Amino acid sequence: MESKYGFLKMDIQEFESWLSAQRVARTILTVQQHHTWVPNYSHFSGSNHFERQQAMKNHHVGSNGWSDIGQHFTVFPDGMILTGRSLEATPACIFGNNQHSICFEHFGNFDTGGDQMRQEQLLTIVKATALICSKFNLPVNQFGIVYHHWFDLSTGKRNNGTGTNKSCPGTNFFGGNKVEDFLQHFAPLVAAEVGGSMVTDIPKDLGYAVVTANRLNVRVGASSTFGKANDRLPVERGAVLRIYEESNGWLKISKSQSHWVYGRYTESVRRATINASVLNVRSGPGTQFSVVGTLPKSEEVFIIAEEGDWCRLALEEKWLSKSYLDFVN
Ligand SMILES: [Zn+2]
Repeated sequence: MESKYGFLKMDIQEFESWLSAQRVARTILTVQQHHTWVPNYSHFSGSNHFERQQAMKNHHVGSNGWSDIGQHFTVFPDGMILTGRSLEATPACIFGNNQHSICFEHFGNFDTGGDQMRQEQLLTIVKATALICSKFNLPVNQFGIVYHHWFDLSTGKRNNGTGTNKSCPGTNFFGGNKVEDFLQHFAPLVAAEVGGSMVTDIPKDLGYAVVTANRLNVRVGASSTFGKANDRLPVERGAVLRIYEESNGWLKISKSQSHWVYGRYTESVRRATINASVLNVRSGPGTQFSVVGTLPKSEEVFIIAEEGDWCRLALEEKWLSKSYLDFVN
């Protein structure tokens, strides 16, 4: 494992053990797939991983004005993985759909007529996606794993590629970028890696809380007199934490570690799954309020408040009818 410019470079075995040691407080619901398009294979020399990763970061920070490189990981043509932004930070990869996500950029242009994906890269993409699904209990389906192509470029609304969309991760990415292509070609490979299971169960005994402070420290005990956890970054606003225990207003956010946050800077939320085929999102708690978007069946949401038969999404002025939600906790 090498490191340069603040990035780690790992092969898939190193990635597996590195990932198992990572502690991530924010709740992850999706893993995103992207291709870089530019740079493509012609920009890869076989040894310039760090320089290409640094160039992407410079572009994201300098031209796009972002705080850091957009993605969590880049998978290179030779199958090596480079780390990008911290796993505790929300990525900047799919407009409107980053909050509970891990983002992979795959180095290359996988549109038809572009680069022919090398076998080493293909195997790493499948295995690394499977490792993320296992670690975060994500279902191996079109809700746990998502392609950039499935979201409208300007509104972020999911349209499965039927409107104004990028082709990303490429019209020839594992045989195509449509949901049907994903289900036929990519999902079965990932499912085989995670042991054949296409769906995982969500633990039902957990509580959830959304972070309302800009940055919230994680401490090793249930009071501010305890030190900060040295293997955890502060959690950021909007992150949804899993809650295992409460004590004197403090919340334990790890099953195995004594890691706590001050509950005053969080609000408790309920996790729910949408059971209507398409559910309207409204600007207020009633059908008299305007429709500001839609959510598809099986999408997961976090509910912060209820008013009559209406539920408000965490930290947003968006409301859903309660009758079309199945609550997990
Ligand atoms: Zn993309």
